[in-house]
Amino acid sequence: MTSYLWTPPPAPSLPVRGKTERLPVNRLFFVGRNYHAHAVEMGKPVDKSVERPFYFTKSPQTLLESGATMPYPSETKNFHFEMELVVAIGKPGFRVKAEDAHQIIYGYAAGLDMTRRDLQLVARDKGRPWDLGKDVEHSSVCAEIVPMPGVVIDHGEIALAVNGETKQRSDVDKLIWNVREIIADLSLFYHLQPGDLIYTGTPEGVGAVVPGDRISGHVAGVGEITLDIGPAE
Ligand code: MN
Repeated sequence: MTSYLWTPPPAPSLPVRGKTERLPVNRLFFVGRNYHAHAVEMGKPVDKSVERPFYFTKSPQTLLESGATMPYPSETKNFHFEMELVVAIGKPGFRVKAEDAHQIIYGYAAGLDMTRRDLQLVARDKGRPWDLGKDVEHSSVCAEIVPMPGVVIDHGEIALAVNGETKQRSDVDKLIWNVREIIADLSLFYHLQPGDLIYTGTPEGVGAVVPGDRISGHVAGVGEITLDIGPAE
């Protein structure tokens, strides 16, 4: 038995619908600009004919379960919600062909990619890494994983409300790079592993929250997610 200097932190994990076992989470991948209307609102339209998808990662320790309260983070005045469909990988995959991508899918969840937008945009425009804007503590919010092995989700409403007022409403069929294409492309760079989560990108309508706000969202056919914004730290 390995002995440690101090107790290791608990391994990140998520509840799985219909199961007592939890899904052990490995890495957190995020697709940038994967809905045209959101890319336009960010001032960076995407031309799929000449571009490839791009990604950023967050520490697995930023994972937070739906229903939790996260503190309004430090060093931002523009903390944004991004509603996303999350794909949970269930089998190893490297250089997976798009037509085979379904074979490594375990399931899906509703997710939130919470973002210090002010810091992300400064970093973006100065050519710096996005970590301070994106790798925010508690910012990778995820609902329960819904087992759907081998299923490719290619449509379904994706929507988010703040305090009951709808802010984002789109459809997963508007993904620029769909679930098959994302798995195929990402697996060119990474040996995908069971427990890797891929946040597939957010539709238009992103905006700021303040302490006391309640976020609620859903992906049709997958599930719902909620998040409360607590006091500023
Ligand atoms: Mn995002």
